[in-house]
Amino acid sequence: MVRTAAAHELNIAGFTPFSTVDWPDTLAATVFLQGCPWTCFYCHNPALIDPRAEGGVAWSEVVDLLCDRIGLLDGVVFSGGEPTLQRALVPAMEAVRALGFRVGLHTGGAYPGLLGLALPHVDWVGLDIKALPGDYDLVTGRPNSAENAWRSLELVLGNRLLRAGSRRPLDLEVRTTVHPAAIDDAHLRALGCRLADAGVDHWAVQRFRAAGTRVPLPRVSDAEASNLRLDDLPVERFQSLVVR
Ligand code: SF4
Repeated sequence: MVRTAAAHELNIAGFTPFSTVDWPDTLAATVFLQGCPWTCFYCHNPALIDPRAEGGVAWSEVVDLLCDRIGLLDGVVFSGGEPTLQRALVPAMEAVRALGFRVGLHTGGAYPGLLGLALPHVDWVGLDIKALPGDYDLVTGRPNSAENAWRSLELVLGNRLLRAGSRRPLDLEVRTTVHPAAIDDAHLRALGCRLADAGVDHWAVQRFRAAGTRVPLPRVSDAEASNLRLDDLPVERFQSLVVR
């Protein structure tokens, strides 16, 4: 029998009490969870990758801070690392909802099984789809990572469809980080078309930023450097397509 986890077992690396950038148009607190199975070369939180590292923030501290912010915040985002690595995620989401907050989730979709259990408790998902399936492992640094990520996209889209028109719809933003060693302009356009075909209507294309990443980064020649322009992307296929 699988032992169930409790919210206080969450391994929490950090907590941001007020954020306007982690959930679009929502004032949120953000809980950063320790551990990720992947090792993307462009990761901005490499200290959060090791799942054995002790995060250092107690769940009780998070709850106390959230209790002080009832009425001031709209929601709480679980970020990482990869939040769906931890079985305590679902009870933590339930606790957050019980305090009256909406729940957001940042995920790369590495664990569709736990993602499926979490989705009924989630109001908004920021899902990283990093590349076309054939290019995925180059980005994540781990074999066979594409299958889970793309399966997770199916799960989220299916859950969103089930909840469409309900009092608790599920909102979704798919995100792709652009670094020439991860995805070139042609593949980015092809990825956009594939996402649109799958039913994604909000896509955020995020320019790579070196701050916080590990070194050395893959070398990129001038010829490979992206001249990313919105005009080159299938803008007409999305309700919103933003380049950040
Ligand atoms: S999936 Fe996210 S947290 Fe994990 S290594 Fe990649 S960028 Fe970092």
